[in-house]
Amino acid sequence: MPAKQRKIAIMGYRSVGKSSLSIQFVDGQFVDSYDPTIENTFVKTTRMNNQDYDLKLVDTAGQDEYSIFPAQYSMDIHGYVLVYSITSHKSFEVVQILYDKLLDMTGKIQNSSVKSPTSCVSSVPIVLVGNKKDLHMERMISYDEGKRLAESWKAGFVEASAKQDDGVSEIFHMVLVEIEKSNGNNVHE
Ligand code: GDP
Ligand code: MG
Repeated sequence: MPAKQRKIAIMGYRSVGKSSLSIQFVDGQFVDSYDPTIENTFVKTTRMNNQDYDLKLVDTAGQDEYSIFPAQYSMDIHGYVLVYSITSHKSFEVVQILYDKLLDMTGKIQNSSVKSPTSCVSSVPIVLVGNKKDLHMERMISYDEGKRLAESWKAGFVEASAKQDDGVSEIFHMVLVEIEKSNGNNVHE
């Protein structure tokens, strides 16, 4: 079977580890001081269920609560990795604001005026990531809080450490699973 091409955007507040997660996955190393303003696309071929995937990871420069959702990330992207740091309340808030903007931009919200859980069915493939799980002493967001948020989105959830290479490949496999699940209503092959 030919490789499937999949483009994934990695988004979230600054310094949550978006670049570190991307570089750990693609290069297998932890880079301690990566220019936070760089926006890069990384490529990697990975295999899941006997299928090769050519992944393009768009490592964004980061967003905050005031950012207008960048239009270039609403098109041509198959799936999203939304990252917060378990050490930062602010980053956990930003990821929720980003999610709302993402749904608005991609037009996948079914009834944006009624915000009840049953009327807002997301079909955007998303994995929520709580990064820096190695920083036990500085933890501010519990595993359950992250998990509950992801469940409310019907998204995947992983806690990870880019530093310790813990949970990193799971993130990208999970996003591929979410993309496969949503195929049929969200295909740009
Ligand atoms: P970005 O702005 O979201 O791309 O964040 P970076 O990947 O540049 O990381 C910001 C800072 O957090 C850097 O100093 C990283 O070394 C550090 N960092 C990233 N991931 C982890 C992690 O899993 N654990 C720890 N302890 N530090 C991390
Ligand atoms: Mg970065």
